[in-house]
Amino acid sequence: MQNKIKTVAQISYVYLHIDMDYFYAQLEEKRHPESLGKVIAVCMFSGRTEISGAITTVNYLGRKIGIKAGMPIISAKKLAPDGVFIHADREYYAEMSARIDMIIRANCEKVVQASIDEWNAFDPNAAEIGPKIKQVIQNEMDLICTLGVAPSVLGAKMAASKAKPNGLLILDTEHESKMINESIVEAVPGIGKKTTEALGMIGVKKVSDLKKTDPILLVETFGKKTGTWLHDLALGRYGAELGEEKEQEGISRIGTLKQQSRDIEFIMQKISELEDDAKKWLFETKKSYKTLALIFITDDMALHTKSFTFRNPLPWNEDITKEKRQLLEEFLKQNSLEIRRIGIKFGNFMDLNGQTTLF
Ligand SMILES: [Mg+2]
Repeated sequence: MQNKIKTVAQISYVYLHIDMDYFYAQLEEKRHPESLGKVIAVCMFSGRTEISGAITTVNYLGRKIGIKAGMPIISAKKLAPDGVFIHADREYYAEMSARIDMIIRANCEKVVQASIDEWNAFDPNAAEIGPKIKQVIQNEMDLICTLGVAPSVLGAKMAASKAKPNGLLILDTEHESKMINESIVEAVPGIGKKTTEALGMIGVKKVSDLKKTDPILLVETFGKKTGTWLHDLALGRYGAELGEEKEQEGISRIGTLKQQSRDIEFIMQKISELEDDAKKWLFETKKSYKTLALIFITDDMALHTKSFTFRNPLPWNEDITKEKRQLLEEFLKQNSLEIRRIGIKFGNFMDLNGQTTLF
């Protein structure tokens, strides 16, 4: 009996939400050490005039003085005349996102990438894995992120947004429902501006107010789907969906070698197996790719990647034996450890009609 209770308690933190802090701006901070202590903003230039365009991400220093994503670059420059304004480098952000994706996939049972810098994951050991992932991302990539761990995806997401930046918040069932109930409705992911307004009209400001609201009124006001969802929210039924894989920046497959090895043929064999599986996805989604990466998890559990970018996008059935071998050989030359797990990743997708699907 004692044992059973323990299991139930352990199993209650099973979802993780991982969110990189001010992702693009953080990446640019690392590449532009001269920006240290300054406002750094990543911009998407529209090309109409030299400075027309909008801010996509800004560091916390910039946020403090009122610079926001979506703001015109001109307005942001007025607020921070000595700020560093950088042209967005999408390929680089996608590549870094893919590396983080690999770290998360190497550690969790089930992972869905929700956006370029956000992941939802499931793992029975989420409470131990969460802090570990944060540490690995810090050690391997020198990047900070925020993690929420909770019994539900919703709880994990809200825990993460509460803990930002550079935070980690692990909630058990009791604290999760307390946090959600006390939250104002607009802070709940999935409740937008319109729903917030409509809820306000029927006297609902906090999630806990939903408890006092007639479920029939909720369904009448918001339709069956949203109404039921709101009622479930009131009852503490937060669902268990990891969500859709929203922006697929890369498809990867990772597997464990039968034994640790540095044998090229043996490792190539495993890579081919994983490749076949990943290529099924490319075939099904009719995507071609420009980036091929190999993932190496060595004896010491460190994660390394080597990637190759092709000049032109390749279709799923192109033979890439030469490039794979080259990446593997390069890796073995630079590292003396044995490989324990190996992975392959395709990224930088194009639809076969030539339209880029990255952003
Ligand atoms: Mg983020």
